[in-house]
Parts: sequence; structure tokens; C-alpha cells
Amino acid sequence: MNEILNVPEMFGSDVFNEATMRQRLRETVFDAWKACIADGSQLTLEVANEIAEAMKIWAIEKGATHYTHWFQPMTGITAEKHDSFITPTGDGRVIMEFSGKELVKGESDGSSFPNGGLRATFEARGYTAWDPTSSAFVRDGSLYIPTCFFSYTGESLDKKTPLLRSVEEVSREAVRILRLFGDTETKRVICQVGAEQEYFLLPKDLYAKREDLRLTGRTLFGALPPKGQELDDHYFGTIRTRVSGFMKELDEQLWRLGILSKTKHNEGAPCQHELAPIYTDANTACDDNQMMMSIMKKVAAKHNLVCLLHEKPFAGVNGSGKHNNWSLSTDSGKNLFKPGKTPAQNARFLLFLAAFLKGVDEYQDFLRCTVASASNDHRLGGGEAPPAIVSVFLGDELNAIIQSIIDGTKYEQEDSGMLRVGVDTMPPIPKDTTDRNRTSPLAFTGNKFEFRMLGSSQSISGPNVALNTIMAEELHQFADRLEQAEDFDKALHELVCEVFTNHQRIIFSGNGYSEDWKQEAEKRGLSNLVSTADALPAYIAPKNVELFTKHGIFTENEMRARHAIHLEAYNKHVAIEARTMLDMAQHQILPAAIHYSRALCDTVGTKRHVGASHRAESALIAQLSGHTDALYDTVEALSDVMNSVPRDAEQASMYYCTKVIPVMDQMRRHADVLEDLTDKNYWPYPTYSDLLFY
Ligand code: ADP
Ligand code: MG
Repeated sequence: MNEILNVPEMFGSDVFNEATMRQRLRETVFDAWKACIADGSQLTLEVANEIAEAMKIWAIEKGATHYTHWFQPMTGITAEKHDSFITPTGDGRVIMEFSGKELVKGESDGSSFPNGGLRATFEARGYTAWDPTSSAFVRDGSLYIPTCFFSYTGESLDKKTPLLRSVEEVSREAVRILRLFGDTETKRVICQVGAEQEYFLLPKDLYAKREDLRLTGRTLFGALPPKGQELDDHYFGTIRTRVSGFMKELDEQLWRLGILSKTKHNEGAPCQHELAPIYTDANTACDDNQMMMSIMKKVAAKHNLVCLLHEKPFAGVNGSGKHNNWSLSTDSGKNLFKPGKTPAQNARFLLFLAAFLKGVDEYQDFLRCTVASASNDHRLGGGEAPPAIVSVFLGDELNAIIQSIIDGTKYEQEDSGMLRVGVDTMPPIPKDTTDRNRTSPLAFTGNKFEFRMLGSSQSISGPNVALNTIMAEELHQFADRLEQAEDFDKALHELVCEVFTNHQRIIFSGNGYSEDWKQEAEKRGLSNLVSTADALPAYIAPKNVELFTKHGIFTENEMRARHAIHLEAYNKHVAIEARTMLDMAQHQILPAAIHYSRALCDTVGTKRHVGASHRAESALIAQLSGHTDALYDTVEALSDVMNSVPRDAEQASMYYCTKVIPVMDQMRRHADVLEDLTDKNYWPYPTYSDLLFY
């Protein structure tokens, strides 16, 4: 019998959330915190002290002995350093203390986190600052305080700070637009995000036997198994007991932490699964996703499993992505991307849609950059995930509406049947019933956009910072123009019509996986930045630097630093993979093939002696020898190319992409043939069949 879980009671029980704060704080203190969240007002030290004290008492009741400023450095994962609450009393005893100062600001040092040159070692100190908009929580005996991470000079070194800046910015500009539509109530517009997380689970013992999985998170070698995912028998299939045990515990831990875990199912590839939470504001969604990834790994270990978040753990079967569902809503919960029932709502919807299309078109290269990584390169454009070309899918109904708005302008004199965008004139927009296009990188799905280029291991911060800032910029331009207009309806119609006309090229409804699309996209002038090395220069393109500095999301220094960090990460990842391949080829694969060849040679000798046929053995020896030689050649070639990597990081990234990776691919081809030819007893690590069909 299943034990009965009281989920409502369990949910958020380890979080110092609003309800708990209301219970445990004096009313004036609670109100001060609420005001700080609502309008960014500063908390006084007295208020911070009272919150810290209440947090400490609550955390100790939950078993905490320590606190940690939890932050999201540029590694893409989270960081924590734990301090106990103890303070000596001078007579050999301790008391448990935690002050407002300790809550609000931490000196993390953290000099080893990537900083892209923002911190010289003599001023290596990094600081953390409490983010009061995200709830503190208790986990494994520590009070976790979500924080921003920045340098001595105040430059941001993390993924949270720009996200917080971007949600403010898009809110401010969106509210300006809402005022034009007569909305006097809305104080804030909130960026809502739901991030669907894909992952693989493998048995721990098999994983431990593969150096490539342990060091790089993916298989660098491996012949394709006789069966892959062609039968679609895993997708949405019955979840096996061991995995459902993992999922159950994962849900419970997530719920305790107030994470809205909603949907779980098997995904397309064998051993692949997905977890989707209910959407929430972008900052919380980002914190929750980071926490979710880390808890997945811990819970998997307890079930003798390993959770792989890599974008492409296995060649030949689907990799893992993270669908980032993004929308904007008012503080009273009105979704601004939902076509409504009234003409005014629909006019507003079309204006936001126009801003989105214009922004995505103008900053497509930057959006591509936000998902650029060595691991995601294996997924994008591989016929299982969107291509590296950014485009937007809207569905037939919206396409038709946009088309008639564009055409309507051309025939302005003829009044009949013309589609006018205006608060009094816009007809209802029919609910889209067309099938959603799974091949699109950015699909409109009724009331939100689903950004599907993000890799499974990546922080969701990057794309959301980009989407918010792009949107803020376009809404800013629109507001400037419409605020000046004498006839609002007319100006609105002209604006929307102009934007749809000028940016129609970004809309694409066809098959994003096809070769034709690449050619068509090129004709349309859309960028196709195939690899990370191709994409990263766009990160610091003047127009992109201008966008983010104008809106105060990044300083130019911060952008250059981030660009340097991404380049370095790409170079290091490819280098580690290359060295791991060399190590495995030299110490495992070549010896296995040689030993097996030798056994075959012995057999040939013996068989010859007794006059038996040794046709099979001889043929195998010939094949093995051919590929052993070829593999050896690639070992030499890869060692050679790795010895002359350019010093300059940007040149190095191109070099890794064009000189190193092709040799790695060659090496893999020969190694995989050898795996097919070799007696399994000689093969040094578990095969794809072992790993994927355990
Ligand atoms: P799918 O078919 O892609 O699984 P779902 O409708 O199940 O789509 O939603 C996927 C994710 O989108 C969930 O995390 C969900 O909470 C989120 N989502 C739904 N509505 C919105 C919205 N308005 N804004 C942002 N995310 C949303
Ligand atoms: Mg989805």
C-alpha cells in the first residue's frame, strides 16, 4: 500500500515563503519587506535584523545549523559556501546568531569562478547580496539564501542579476504601453516562465565504467545499438519501477521546496524523461530550475542511478533540451499574449506580438548566442531539435491575420473587408486549432512563446534576459511613437502594419529540420550561426552591446567579460573531450582491439596446425588491423592538432570547431567500427545496448 502524502501540507514546508513570513514577522516588518518587493525600496538594517532573526529561528526548527548565500555564477550551475550560526560566548559555549548584515551581504571571495577578466587577483573578492524577491529555504541542514553575485567594483558575475534587471525593464516599458490602452491599474508586468526539463537516467554502475560519461557527461564513443528509438516505444510509455521511485522522491523534495513540479513522463529516447513545472515568475522559475537540476542528481544517486543533463549523451538518439515557455502578464494576472474577446484586447495583443516579432528579427543573432555551448552544438540542427536559425511559428490563423493587415494597407482606399487594428475596430481572433510545429525554435502556443533552442543543462537565465530586454526595447520604441500620436487608433494600425511588413521574414511555418529551410532562410537574410564558434562573436556585436547597455542590463565591460567566459568555456569543453578521447583510445580501445586481434591470430595459428578453415578469423584480423591502424593515425593527428591550439581565445574557438572536432569525429568512426568487430569480452566499457536498454 502506498503511504498517503499530504501534498498541500508538504508543499513549501521548507520555504520561508510569504505565508510563513506573515506568520513570523511583526506586521510593520512584513509590510516593509512587501514594499521592498513591490517597488524595490531599501530595507533598513533594523528590518533586516528582524527578518534574519525570524529566519534563523525558523531554520533551526527545521534542523538547520548553517546558512549559505546561494548564487548562480557564470559556470551555469549554483554555488554555496556554508557558515554555521555559532558565535562563542567567551566561556567555552556558543549561541546561534544570524544578523541582518549577514543576511543582506556576504563576502564570498569565490576567486575561482569565471569572471572574464573583471577581477584582477589583488581585488578578487566577490560579494553576494540577498535577493528578497526569491524565498529562502532549508535544505540538508542549511538555510539557503538566494543571492546575486558581483565583483568588488560592482560588476555582475552571475546569471541572476541581469535577469532581475531585465524583468524590471520589460515591466516598465510594458506598463507604458498599457497606459495607452487606458489601463490605469496595472503597476507591474510580470515575465512568466515555465521550463520543461529533459534528462537521462542511467544505472550508476554502468556509468562508472565509462570515462567519457564521467569526465564529459556524454559518450564520446559508441557503436549504434541494433535498436534505437525508432519504435517510439519509450515516449510516454509505462515508467519502470526504479525510475518511478526516483520520480516520486524527486517530486516530494521539490514540493517541500515550493517548486511546482507538475508533469512527468518518459521522453523519446530510451532512458530519457521529462519534468515540467507549472510556470511562475522568471526569477523564481530560474532559481527553481537550478535547484531542480541539482536535486535530480542527488536523488538519482540515492536510487543507484545517474542523472545526465548533457544535451547529447548518445549519438543516434534524441538529446535533451529545455523548452522555455515565456509570456508577459499583468500583476492582476492578465496574459498579454492571449488574444482576447474584445477589440481592445486584440489590438493590444497584436501590438505585443508585433514587438515580439520585430525584436526577435532584429536580435536573432543574440538569441542564438544565449544557447551557444559546446554541448548544445550537438543538438541544434541535428534533426531532433530546432536548427541554429531563429524563426517564429505563429500558426495558420495568426498568419492569415497578419497577412490581411499587411495587404489591407496596400488597398487602403477600399474599405470593405479590410482588417484594421484599433481599440474599437479589431475583430475577434479565432483560437488557433492548427497543430503545433515541433520543428520551430520559437513557437506561439496560444498564449505564450515556447523557446525550444535551450539545452537541457543550461541556465534559463540567458534566453529570458534576452527575450525581456528585446521586448523592453521594442515596447519602448512603440510607446515613444504612440504617446506622440494624435489619432491613437490610426497610429496603432500604421505601426502594427509597418512592423508586420518589415519583419515578416522571421515568421516560418514549414519544416525547420529540412534542408530547404536553410536555403530559404539564407534568401530571407536570416542568420544561421551553426556552431558556438560561429555564434559567439555576435555576443559583442555593436548593436547588441548598445541594446543591453541602453537598458542597463549589462555594462559593456560585463558583456565583454561574459563573451570571454563563453569562449573559454567552449574551448575548455572541447579540449577536455579531445583529451578524454585520446586517453580512451590509447589506454582502452587500441589495447582491446590489439588483444582481440592477437587472440584471433593465435586461433589462426592453431587452426592452421590442425588443417581447419580460418577464413572468418583471417577476415576479421584484416578488418581489425585496418581500423586499428586508422585509429592510431587519428590518435597521432589529434595529439598534433591539440599541440598547436592558438593562444587567442576567439581564434582558438574557430580552431577547435574546424580543426579539432573533425579529427575527433574521424577517431570515433574507427573506434566504433572496432567496437562492432570486437568480442564483447574484450571491450573495455559498456556499449550503447548495455546503457540504453538496461
Ligand atoms: P507542452 O505540450 O509543450 O508540454 P504545456 O501546455 O504542458 O505544453 O506547457 C508547458 C509549460 O508551459 C508548463 O511549464 C506550463 O506551466 C507552461 N506555461 C503554460 N502557460 C504559460 C504561460 N502563460 N506563460 C509561461 N509558461 C506557461
Ligand atoms: Mg514543450
